[in-house]
Amino acid sequence: MTYVVTDNCIRCKYMDCVEVCPVDCFYEGENMLVIHPDECIDCGVCEPECPAEAIKPDTEPGLESWLTLNADYAKSWPNITVKRDPPADAKEMDGEEGKLEKYFSPNPGQGD
Ligand code: SF4
Ligand code: SF4
Repeated sequence: MTYVVTDNCIRCKYMDCVEVCPVDCFYEGENMLVIHPDECIDCGVCEPECPAEAIKPDTEPGLESWLTLNADYAKSWPNITVKRDPPADAKEMDGEEGKLEKYFSPNPGQGD
């Protein structure tokens, strides 16, 4: 089991999660983060910290494609452990539907 980052992180990217993860398993894309499923120890402390409620346990149904996306991009995006400022329009983007189709970027973020 692992936790996965899902749709509502895209363009919200508040980064509260990275500060609490005991094993530093978040990786940064241009406009979202992902969790490395082989490094996550399933502690669950990040889930309630996410203001966008974007982090879910992979035991929830329907998250298979998100698990694949997290696993794939955790291999190529840089590690992030220190919170920075979120995007200026993060609040407006919070809760918008279908962000994956509209806004997902495969480009890496800057990392630590
Ligand atoms: S706290 Fe939530 S919205 Fe922010 S980067 Fe982490 S998963 Fe994404
Ligand atoms: S569940 Fe724990 S180990 Fe996994 S990403 Fe969240 S804080 Fe890190």
